[in-house]
Parts: sequence; C-alpha cells; structure tokens
Amino acid sequence: MTIDSAVHTPAPADDHFLPGPVLLLGAPGVGKGTQAQLLMAKFGIPQISTGDILRENIAKGTELGKAAKSLMDQGQLVPDELVNNMVGKRLAAPDVHAGYILDGFPRTTVQATWLDAHLGDSGETAPLIAVNIRVDEKELLRRITGRRICPTCKRIYNIYSNPPQKDGFCDVEGSQLQHRSDDTEEAFARRMKEYDSQTAPVIEHYRLSGRFREIDGAVPVDQVADSIITALKELRGQFPKGTFNPQAGL
Ligand code: AMP
Repeated sequence: MTIDSAVHTPAPADDHFLPGPVLLLGAPGVGKGTQAQLLMAKFGIPQISTGDILRENIAKGTELGKAAKSLMDQGQLVPDELVNNMVGKRLAAPDVHAGYILDGFPRTTVQATWLDAHLGDSGETAPLIAVNIRVDEKELLRRITGRRICPTCKRIYNIYSNPPQKDGFCDVEGSQLQHRSDDTEEAFARRMKEYDSQTAPVIEHYRLSGRFREIDGAVPVDQVADSIITALKELRGQFPKGTFNPQAGL
C-alpha cells in the first residue's frame, strides 16, 4: 500500500488560526477536494483524501489498488476495512500533529465509528469538527462531468466553470489534465446512490454531535472557502484544543 499522495508538503501557513482535525463532508462533486486544497494552503495542515490515496495505489499497481479499481470505476465504495486501515496508517504520519483535513472519509457509519474510536491515537487534543457542503444534484452532475485533474499537483479544474488557460493542460505544471474514470454520468448515478444510502447517515451522525456546520457550496469557490473558514473558527472557538475526550471519542 502507498500513502504518498497525501504526504505532499503543504504550503506554509499564512494564518495563526489552526483548525485542528477537520472533516469536510458532502456529496460527490460538491467541492470537498478543491476546498481541502485551499485550506491546506492557508493553514499548512495536510489534506487527507481517501479517493486520492486509492487512486495513487491504483497508479502504482499495489494490492490495495487492484482491490479498489473496479469498485471505484463503477462508483461503488471500497470495503470499510481496507479504507479504515489505510486512514489509520495515514493518521500515524507525523505531519498530522497540528491537524488535518479529511476529505471523502468517513463515508459509512462503520468508518465513522472507527474514526471516533481512533481519534486520540495521534495525540490529538482538539475535538474533530465537521463542515457539510451542500449543492443540488443537477449542479453536481455538471461539476463531475466537467472536472479535470492535474496528475502531478492534483489541482482541480472544471471545463465549464474553472478552465485551465491552455485547454487540457495544468496552468502550473503543464501536465496533461486527466478525466477521472468514475466522473461519468453512469458512475455518478451509482455514487449518488451510495451517498444517499451510506453517507447521509454519517452526516446525521456528525450533525447530532453538535460539532457541525452546514454551508452553501453553490456560490463561487472563494465564497465557499470564506464560509468554511468562518464555520471552522466558530466551531473551534466552541470546541478548542484541550477539550478532546479520548474515552468518549469526542
Ligand atoms: P472521491 O475521490 O472521494 O470521489 O472517491 C472516489 C472513489 O473512491 C469513491 O467513489 C469510492 O469508490 C472510493 N472511496 C473514496 N473514499 C472512500 C471511503 N471513505 N470509503 C469507501 N470508498 C471510498
């Protein structure tokens, strides 16, 4: 198994506020990856995207990648045990010390229960806080089918709303942009089904925890980022560092 994709060094923080452990929640295409990248650059804490780590494993031909590939292409979820194990390894890396942004995990109640039980493992003293991004389904489909990704720096473009300067190539790396094999209409339908049946209860789980905010993701990217940062500052003010209770997983 490889976890390299998630260990790229974030840019230096430009803000004294440290959000600590953060969950970005929301349906496929809602903008979790884009927003996680912005938060990573702003606060200097790593983005942990389970989708990115799985794709990295597929690219490298690992056993995990072989087990995940066809499920991912069809828009189905990868088994909980494999994903939990992968996240456990990632959370053991030293760069998560000041916090991290989990993007795409947990996606099932089994994963959420696992995460709650393992939160204290990396010495966290700040409770997890969660932000759910909402966008309607028609817009999600447009975002998914228009999404293009730089294989080198993982920057996310959209041919409709955020095209690169030179068609098909990353503005920064010059690499040829890729269209994810599961960013098709068919796979999107399947992913939404999985989301409604498996991930919606996870969102309720964190809503009920109280350490949760919901924001509108249908506005321009920088406005979404502002709303997330405001929500994180409010939540962290309420649930500061030092208030994490490992016994209760809270
Ligand atoms: P994403 O990049 O987050 O859209 O994830 C792409 C695909 O990777 C998903 O459709 C799943 O097949 C798989 N995947 C990513 N994260 C998880 C997870 N937490 N649990 C199960 N499967 C996942």
